[in-house]
Order: sequence, then structure tokens, then C-alpha cells
Amino acid sequence: MSTLTPGAGCLEGGRHPLLIGGITPFSTVDWPGKLACVAFLAGCPWRCPYCQNHQLQSRASATLTDAELFSLLEARRGLLDGVVFSGGEPLAQPAVIEAARHARELGFQVGLHTCGAFPDRLREALPLLDWVGIDVKAPWDAYDRITLGRESGAAARESLQAVLDSGVAMEARTTWHPALLTPQDISDIAHDLAGRGVRTWAVQAYRPEGTTGELPDETVYPSEVPDDLPALFDSYEFRRA
Ligand code: SF4
Repeated sequence: MSTLTPGAGCLEGGRHPLLIGGITPFSTVDWPGKLACVAFLAGCPWRCPYCQNHQLQSRASATLTDAELFSLLEARRGLLDGVVFSGGEPLAQPAVIEAARHARELGFQVGLHTCGAFPDRLREALPLLDWVGIDVKAPWDAYDRITLGRESGAAARESLQAVLDSGVAMEARTTWHPALLTPQDISDIAHDLAGRGVRTWAVQAYRPEGTTGELPDETVYPSEVPDDLPALFDSYEFRRA
């Protein structure tokens, strides 16, 4: 595959390329129930200490563009259900919307992983999406202590509501490190989500792989999720991966 000098050049027609840090050609875990290609887009405005792709927080980490992604997809038509735009935060790049449209034109379903930092761009993308996995990182008023962003909870809440209003299939996911969220926080998140109409929720135990290592190497266990929470959802899963 060719490499990109980050920030250099435009694709044909003057369009800015999508900056991609890596591609997984076949995945069964990034979109539940689907066989998908996953593109990890470079760039994210937030700095969560448990980020497993922290090198992708910078756009300078990009080594590929959508030219490579679409060449790969065209060679796999009929072999994949869809493509997932992940990151980093894929909506940090406006070009992801045109890429989603092009993937649909090629006959692929389109999934998105998002932290919810860009609600306006998410609303623009939703008509092109078949599924969204959206992070819910903390009770809304405690968000900034995890993301190190400003008013990040308000943006994430608006994004979640946009997904729910759209009717697009979705999953909410909460990563739990015991130094960042208490069982009461987890309970507050679950009740808030259920009250908004979220039907699918996953709790993801912190894993140190791929992180900066700044958090103590602790984890949580399925039994620590308060007993009453799974029943609030049609689908609930505790994940270690
Ligand atoms: S929002 Fe996601 S990609 Fe961005 S720093 Fe947090 S975990 Fe990493």
C-alpha cells in the first residue's frame, strides 16, 4: 500500500483525502453480527486515558487514504457485509460523509464508531448509516474529567439523542476503569440510557493494551455491574475485548 504525507495533497476533484491510520480488512467484532472492513481514521479532539488507539489521536498518524480503502473494498464486493468507520473519531474529518456515501454506492452497508464529539456532523451522516456504536463515557456532567475536553458531555448527549431520533440501529458502549467510574456512576449511566430509549448497551472492561499506560492496571468484573442494570435493556453485554 502506498503511504501518505499527512496533510499533503487532495484527491481527484479537489476533495481532501480521508486520513486513515490503519485498516482491518475483515472483522467480526467491530459491528455485531456483520463481517466488516474497519477503517481507523486519524484524529480525535479528546484525550481519554484509556484510549486503546491513542496514537490515532493525531492526524499525523495517518499512513493511508480513502484511495487505498476503496481499492480494498472494490476487491471485496460480495465478500463483506459492510465497512465501519472507526478511529480516532471518524467525524473529526468532514470527508467521512462523502466516503460513507461512496461506500453505499458500492453496495456496502455502513457502520460508524463515534464518541459523539460532533453532533452536527453526525446528524448529516446518519441518513447514510446502517448502524452506530456510540460511546457513553460517564454521567453527562462528569464527562470532561475523562475526555479532558470542554463541555464534552453536552456534545455526547446531543449526539446520542440524534442517533435515537434517527431510528438507525445502534449500540451504546461504556468503558469502565474503576479509577474513573464508580458502580454508582455505572448505575446512573444505565438508568439515563434506558430512560432515553436505548435498548442495547455494552460495558467494556478497561484493558491496558494500546493505552498510554497512565492508568493503574486495574479492571472490573461482570459481577460488579449492579444486578438490576442488565434487565433495563433488550440486549446487554459485558466485554473484555
Ligand atoms: S474519544 Fe475515543 S479515540 Fe478519542 S481519545 Fe477517547 S477513546 Fe480515544
